Amino acid sequence: MVEIKTDTALDAMREAGRVVANALAAARGAAAVGVRLRELDEAAHTVLNEAGASSPFLGYQPSFAPVPFPAVLCASVNDAVSHGIPGDYRLRDGDLVSIDCGAELDGWTGDAAISFTVGTPRPADLELIAATQQALDAGIAAATVGHRIGDISHAISTVARKAACGMPSDFGGHGIGRQMHEDPHVPNHGRPGRGFPLRHGLALAIEPMLMAGGHNDYLTDPDGWTLRTIDGSQAAHFEHTIAITESGPRILTLP
Ligand code: MG
Ligand code: MG
Repeated sequence: MVEIKTDTALDAMREAGRVVANALAAARGAAAVGVRLRELDEAAHTVLNEAGASSPFLGYQPSFAPVPFPAVLCASVNDAVSHGIPGDYRLRDGDLVSIDCGAELDGWTGDAAISFTVGTPRPADLELIAATQQALDAGIAAATVGHRIGDISHAISTVARKAACGMPSDFGGHGIGRQMHEDPHVPNHGRPGRGFPLRHGLALAIEPMLMAGGHNDYLTDPDGWTLRTIDGSQAAHFEHTIAITESGPRILTLP
């Protein structure tokens, strides 16, 4: 079932989204060569705690996962696409890092992700990051009243195709509100004019994950969580929680 949010609810989601943005900024700020991924998670957790927010990631166990997620942050490095567990791995010069964080505040949820490099970046990684950001921007730009979910999917996949990148076929964006994952699903592959109609008050997490090797297939690590490219190519992930409004898409996960 799709829940259409009131403007008051969207304002509350904006506050949850602000906490997410601040947590991501803190985690990114903590990232440097030699730093453990666990320390990025700790930085994000501190922001959540100080804001009085809880983590919808910590303890989350969807049907595909063998164990509950043990952190507030997903941290996925280089060929890891998404859902990486922030453990003892120490960041190295040139690593491409994708971090994804959620926050629940006063019963409302936000969810966002960013990718960046640590140390001296590889030019190809910067291009991949730019293309993934562009895919998110295009998806958000298509999230307008009168369009359908498929228009968002098509906008994202058009950018990915132009960049010759693949995207995991069965992971994408989602409705969001009281729960982190609500209906409708927001596929990253899709056809324009299809799917659920977008209307004022619909809140969505839009999240392209681009894989430089161009395949849509991916592997799952033995930990049951980490998604990885099948060819060892690099991956990037950007996500915002947005609301469809009569005056255009409203990004809820900005600082
Ligand atoms: Mg996310
Ligand atoms: Mg999400």
